[in-house]
Amino acid sequence: MKNKYFFFLLFSFLCIHTYSQKLSKTERKIIKKIEAYHEESVDFLERVVNINSGSLNLEGVREVGDVFGQAFEEIGFNSRWIEMPEEMNRAGHLFASIKGKKGKKLLLIGHLDTVFEENSSFQTFERQDSIAYGPGANDMKGGNVVILYALKALQELNLLKEASITIALTGDEESTGKPLSKSRKDLIKAGKEADIALGFENASGFNNATIARRGSSGWKIEAEGVRAHSSGVFNEKVGAGAIFEMSRILNSFYEEVRGETYLTFNPGTLLGGTFIDFNKQTSSGEVFGKSNVVAQKAIVNGGLRFISEEQKENARNKMREIVAQNLPETKATITFTDSYPAMEPSDGNLALLSLLDQVSKDLGHGGVDPYDPLKRGAADISFVANYTDGMDGLGTMGKGAHTPQETVNLNTMNALIQRSAILIYRLIR
Ligand SMILES: [Zn+2]
Repeated sequence: MKNKYFFFLLFSFLCIHTYSQKLSKTERKIIKKIEAYHEESVDFLERVVNINSGSLNLEGVREVGDVFGQAFEEIGFNSRWIEMPEEMNRAGHLFASIKGKKGKKLLLIGHLDTVFEENSSFQTFERQDSIAYGPGANDMKGGNVVILYALKALQELNLLKEASITIALTGDEESTGKPLSKSRKDLIKAGKEADIALGFENASGFNNATIARRGSSGWKIEAEGVRAHSSGVFNEKVGAGAIFEMSRILNSFYEEVRGETYLTFNPGTLLGGTFIDFNKQTSSGEVFGKSNVVAQKAIVNGGLRFISEEQKENARNKMREIVAQNLPETKATITFTDSYPAMEPSDGNLALLSLLDQVSKDLGHGGVDPYDPLKRGAADISFVANYTDGMDGLGTMGKGAHTPQETVNLNTMNALIQRSAILIYRLIR
């Protein structure tokens, strides 16, 4: 009986201490260092949240960039501001880097802007115990703070020597500057130079990370029919009209293209009649037509989400085929526009996830599973996914992103900084 009790005690003792045994001595120092920075990191978050940086508030975005730029300079990074052309009406991006020859070359991705513009009623950081309310606090100034304090701890322990790390904080993630070929040029270039990209968009709990994101793109169908008195509809000369043709196409999309996992497409606007005026800028339009006139025009604007380039192309081909099978006396065309590429769940991304899984277990937070791509939208990491292994969702935890109820959970922030610091440390060794 006594013996049993002893072994039980011994077993409990071992369990409690496995956490620290799995971490190296240096890693335990990193953890300690970050623990000591808890209040400072929250204060830093408060400071940057209180600077409005709606995507269209160029000065504000720039100011938040300056604060981060200076903080990165203080820990030995070279920071630079990348301007965007004036007509784009976006602030630009903050990049900061150190260059060395050891370990994996890392690209750490965040963004400076938020969806809350200067006219929003939601402007300030308010702490209520362990929860902080704030515009962009979780999406994603919190994530930027995770990057900063993880690196700060590593730098102070002299662990960044010889590491190659680039931080890219874009200034227009929530409303990307167009054309993307310009606004994402520097990010893509950094992606090509990196071995691994880590995204610090908000975390979906300790036990999930994003290794696949769907891409998004647009499509537009224009259908034409013969304008005629409706008494002649269906006859040889008049045919079906533009609205029947458009209905056929959309119904066929629904019946024949729908069904693949991760593939979705959605017609967002539909106009049909004799005359149509659709304004792309405001995404609104006007239509004139009569029930006794066969419709001359119909326009649909839609979106398409996909998990791979292959899936996107297959879907587009099927759509083109359907569009080409016109009803009598009608014509139709479909055009596609690219927006966000997909981040495919590659083997490299999975390997990265298993590294995080190990870090998380070593820290006592349990394993990490891939997050369902259907539950997340596109993000900046998608632009580099074709060139480097990547993982996203390493930022802070909270609720209500993009709403005036946005929060960040301060109780978990320090642990998330520790997790990222250990992950980065293991990657750059
Ligand atoms: Zn975001």
